[in-house]
Amino acid sequence: MKNKKHDPATAIQDLKQFGEFGGVNISITDSATFTFMTEEEMIKAFHGEAPGCFLYSRHWNPTNRYLSEALAAMEGTELAWVTSSGMAAITTTLLQLCNSGDHIITSVTTYGGTFAFLNNYLKKFNIDVTFVNIEDHESIKRAIRPNTKVLYTESMTNPMLQISDIPALADIVKGTGVKLVVDNTFTPMIISPAKLGADIVVYSMTKFVNGKNDHVAGAICSTEEFINAISDVNTGTAMLLGPVLDPLRSSSILKNLGTLHIRMQKHSENAMYLAERFKETGLKFKYPGLPEHPNYELFNRLRNPDYGYGGMIAIDVETAEKAAPFMELMQERGVGYHAVSLGYFKTLFSNSGKSTSSEVPENIQREMGLSPGLVRFSVGLDHDIERTWQLIKSCLVDLKLI
Ligand SMILES: *Cc1c(COP(=O)(O)O)cnc(C)c1O
Repeated sequence: MKNKKHDPATAIQDLKQFGEFGGVNISITDSATFTFMTEEEMIKAFHGEAPGCFLYSRHWNPTNRYLSEALAAMEGTELAWVTSSGMAAITTTLLQLCNSGDHIITSVTTYGGTFAFLNNYLKKFNIDVTFVNIEDHESIKRAIRPNTKVLYTESMTNPMLQISDIPALADIVKGTGVKLVVDNTFTPMIISPAKLGADIVVYSMTKFVNGKNDHVAGAICSTEEFINAISDVNTGTAMLLGPVLDPLRSSSILKNLGTLHIRMQKHSENAMYLAERFKETGLKFKYPGLPEHPNYELFNRLRNPDYGYGGMIAIDVETAEKAAPFMELMQERGVGYHAVSLGYFKTLFSNSGKSTSSEVPENIQREMGLSPGLVRFSVGLDHDIERTWQLIKSCLVDLKLI
C-alpha cells in the first residue's frame, strides 16, 4: 500500500459517479436548458441559491460537472470548470483575473498561442505583460508592480522542457495578491501544481488528458470561489464569453481519464528509453528525466514519483533545413506522424520554431535558446520502443545527422 498525501490516480479511482439506471458510466445530459417546477426555484437558481439545480448548459451542465469533479479530484482543488479548448481555459482565466491597466508576469517560454495572446491580444485591453526567464527568480521579484495580478508559467515549459519551481514561485507571490497560474498540459498526474502552491491550474485536455486527439478541450481547476466567479451570471468570464465544452465530449474525456495514469507511465517509460538512446549518440537533446538536464533535481522534488518524467523530448539537429528531411523520413519509415500537438498514442514530432512556437518572433526564440533545428517529440505508447529507436536511428544515420 502506497502512503501518499495526494495521489491523482487514486483520487480519480475513488470517485463514485454513476449514470441513470446504475450505469457504470455517467449519463450524458444532452440538454441546453432545464425545467423548473416553480418560478420561485428558477429565480433562486439565477441568484446562485439553488444548489444542485442546473439552469442552462453555458453555465453548468451535469455531464460537465462530473468531469469537473474528476479533474478537481485529480488536482486536489475544490472545483474545476471545463472549456472548449486549452486556449479558452487560459484566456478565460487571465481575463477574469485582470482588468484594463493591469499587469501580468509570464515565463517567456510558453505555448505559442499563449505567447501570442499575452504579447499581442492583451494590448486591446491595455494589459501590460513582462516576459521573464522563469528560472530567474530575482527578475520575477523585480518585475512585480502594484498592478500585477498574475504570475503565469507552465509546469514543464513548451518547447524548452524547463521545470518551473512552483513552490518557490508561490512563495514569491505570497501576500502580494498576485495569483500563480500554472499550465500543466505536459505533466498531468506527474505534477500536481495546486498541491505545490499554484492558485489556478489550467489544461489543454486536447493533449495527454484526453489522449485520443479526437477533439480540443480545456479545463480550469481552482477554488470554489474562483470557479463560481468565472461562472457568475453577471460578471463571470466563462459565463459571458461562453467557451463551454460540449457535454458529449465531456463524457468521452471522463472515460479516458480512467486510463490516464497508465498512459502517463507508458509515455514516460518510452520517452526515457529514447532519451537514453539519444544520449548515446551524442546529439544535443532535452529530457528532464536524465541527470544532464539542469532541472533534474528540482523535477524529482516536485513530481509525484509513480508516473515518470513525462513523454516529451526535444532534440537539436541545429538547423531547420536538417530538421525537415529528418521529420519527413521518420514519418515515411513509420516512427510516427509529422504533426503538431502531443499526448497521442502515436509518436508525434514537429519543429517547434516553425510550428507551435512560430508565434514567437525569431529574435526571442534565439534569446530563450530555442534552436531552429529543435525537433520536439511527443513519445507515443509504442509497444516495441526498441524498434521505434531503430527506425529513428536509421533516419539519423542515413541523413548523416549522427
Ligand atoms: C496545446 C496547448 C495549449 C492550447 O490548447 P488547445 O486545446 O489547443 O486550445 C495550451 N498550452 C499548452 C502547453 C499546449 O500544449
